[in-house]
Amino acid sequence: MSAAESAEPRVLFVGGLGRSGSTLLELLLAQSADVCAVGEVVHLWERALGADERCGCGERFTACPFWQRVGEHAFGGWSAVDRDDVLALKDRVDRTRHIPRLAKNSLSPEQLADVRRYADLYTRIYRAALAATGARVVVDSSKHASLAFALRWAEGLDLRVLHLVRDSRAVAYSWGKQVRRPEVVDGEDFMPTFSPFEVSKLWTAQNAAFHLLAARAQVLRLRYEDFTADPAGTVRRLREFAGLPDDPEALRILTDPPASPFRAHSIAGNPLRFSGGPLTVRRDEAWRSRLPRRSRAVVSLATLPFRVRYGYLGQRGSDESVEKA
Ligand SMILES: [Zn+2]
Repeated sequence: MSAAESAEPRVLFVGGLGRSGSTLLELLLAQSADVCAVGEVVHLWERALGADERCGCGERFTACPFWQRVGEHAFGGWSAVDRDDVLALKDRVDRTRHIPRLAKNSLSPEQLADVRRYADLYTRIYRAALAATGARVVVDSSKHASLAFALRWAEGLDLRVLHLVRDSRAVAYSWGKQVRRPEVVDGEDFMPTFSPFEVSKLWTAQNAAFHLLAARAQVLRLRYEDFTADPAGTVRRLREFAGLPDDPEALRILTDPPASPFRAHSIAGNPLRFSGGPLTVRRDEAWRSRLPRRSRAVVSLATLPFRVRYGYLGQRGSDESVEKA
């Protein structure tokens, strides 16, 4: 075992509600050789192991050499993983309703055994991904707060959590759109949609959970609007949070974008994983003109407390500065 393998694997876990720009952010970070972005590992059990969906590289999961190496290294091959057992374990550990329990300082012996076994599956995958690529940090964009809470119980894992927030009205607009999932090879499937009120509840619950986690783990908060306003500064800040040295090469993609950037071996995420074109960071403000007035009113009111906290008030709210995490 090499020195890198014997050390605790380090993961930058991207948390928050989906449609907050995490796929773009992880692709940007993954352009550096010392960062390995693996997408949303929480969906690996069903979408990759179960449905053999396409990896971000374009290959099906079973045909992707990276994921086959990871499976070999982590478990002695994916066939050794009992998917039904993992899904049952996931249900007992990794659900939003379990967060109050996972936030406590102690667990019953049965609960502790479950959460440690569940977190160990991820730790093994992170370690294997680092070994397969020689990277120093793995980025998991799973986002669910319940998984971040489970990982805080992991043994031998260096967990750093990025709490990504975006204006709730932009998030609600995005969840209302019908988007085809290009990773599905057999037939056609669409990303789920949620009503403005459902999005408001999810947005508030996820953000509240990451504030709770911040007292128990290393958490850095980042607004999507600040990321898109200053991508280079964001990359520098995140690399520093992840314990990585400043790397001018990591920023080159922003000033001199290659025609075809590196496509990460990612599980699930935004369809832009498959676009293959140059990566451009641009704030998507379509919601300002396209989110219906009534939906906007519902979301604005239902998410008011955290919108105030994050500086998302009024028409120009997204441009205001905000407290540091
Ligand atoms: Zn792949």
